Amino acid sequence: MAELNLILLGPPGAGKGTQAERITEDFNLPYIATGNILRAAVSEGTELGIKAKSFMDAGALVPDELIIAVILERLQAADAQDGFLLDGFPRTVPQAEALGTQLAGLERHLSAVLLIDVTDEEVVRRLSGRRVSAKTGRVYHVEFDPPKNEGVCDIDGSRLIQRDDDKPETILNRLAVYHEQTEPLVGFYTELGLLRRFDGARPPVEVHDHIRAQIATLRLEDRI
Ligand code: ADP
Ligand code: ADP
Repeated sequence: MAELNLILLGPPGAGKGTQAERITEDFNLPYIATGNILRAAVSEGTELGIKAKSFMDAGALVPDELIIAVILERLQAADAQDGFLLDGFPRTVPQAEALGTQLAGLERHLSAVLLIDVTDEEVVRRLSGRRVSAKTGRVYHVEFDPPKNEGVCDIDGSRLIQRDDDKPETILNRLAVYHEQTEPLVGFYTELGLLRRFDGARPPVEVHDHIRAQIATLRLEDRI
């Protein structure tokens, strides 16, 4: 079977991470999430982390050249040779172009770009209620997906925190950045015939069912 090279696209809080957990399990793909990679770099105090921190705290994008280098290298790793799920990359047209050039040079191509669509209002509701375990990475929502015991992770009982960039003033900035710099990718990938749109306002299980069905259809059509 051909490799499955997928991108998750959508505003912050659309449910990309939530779906990624399921899709990577369905198809046994490595999960490459730029936000997670950057947050790990910040907490480890690496050169990348030191450079990225102030942009992230402000809800701005880190400069293209920083993130492009990291992701293109990550895609060369052995575990990404038979497929991958990218979340949070590309986020700008230059990032998408750099990814396209690298894949073409390796005679690889994208299978599909999965756009999870939600309104700005829903983004604000979701991000302001989002809680995460810094230890396990598991994501919760105080109202829509609460943990079994308040404030602690179901997996290992670690404490749940609110990300600094999930505070109200940063959320609005991140949304503006999404509309300005990332949304143009919807047109970019539509033109390439790769975009598949999903209604992210539906409950997580439904969004997941739709995505799985779409990938099955693509496989039947022999596109991937
Ligand atoms: P969310 O999951 O809420 O959409 P992420 O965890 O993907 O947010 O990203 C958190 C922050 O990391 C972003 O606000 C941005 O500062 C930085 N970041 C992540 N991916 C990229 C990227 N591809 N280009 C530039 N900055 C990025
Ligand atoms: P992203 O990775 O796109 O930033 P997340 O997967 O972290 O988004 O989800 C953002 C918040 O919304 C989390 O608190 C998550 O529990 C919640 N959430 C995710 N998907 C849904 C959904 N379909 N309906 C309601 N809440 C959701």
